[in-house]
Amino acid sequence: MDILRSPWRYDYVASARKPRACVFCTDASVPAGGPARGDDRERLILHRADLCFVIMNLYPYTSGHLMVAPYRHVGTLDAAGADELAEMMRLAKRSAAILGEAYRPDGFNIGMNVGECAGAGVRDHVHLHVVPRWSGDANFMTTTGETRVLPEDIRDGYRKLRPLFEREAG
Ligand SMILES: [Zn+2]
Repeated sequence: MDILRSPWRYDYVASARKPRACVFCTDASVPAGGPARGDDRERLILHRADLCFVIMNLYPYTSGHLMVAPYRHVGTLDAAGADELAEMMRLAKRSAAILGEAYRPDGFNIGMNVGECAGAGVRDHVHLHVVPRWSGDANFMTTTGETRVLPEDIRDGYRKLRPLFEREAG
């Protein structure tokens, strides 16, 4: 699938050629530590809660496509704790509220792909997608052209959303 107007696409293609650490963990050698602090802007992390964090999807389906993941590198719902799952859902609710304010979508897809056959891009670190949708947003392009239209640069999205998460922090 091609992506139109995606200047960050080249970085993905280039980085895909070499082994990478888990995208939800800065360093695979410290899987329980979560992403290193201090590089939130670089890594598109919008918010850190006690057990989980909110991060923008670098390869979004629509503008404002966020993901919620636990700090712990766990690959299945069984391996995640009840407290982690509860916080993931709380953060998904809050993310949807903030996205609703920032983007005025008509609806959301909120869900999880578990396992490669189900479409999970990252198989071994569970994450919950929060995807704003607009009536008729991608139907035409997706079904006819295998092409997604992204109207907003992801860095612009980060600059828009980060203050909203900071405002509601605590
Ligand atoms: Zn991980």
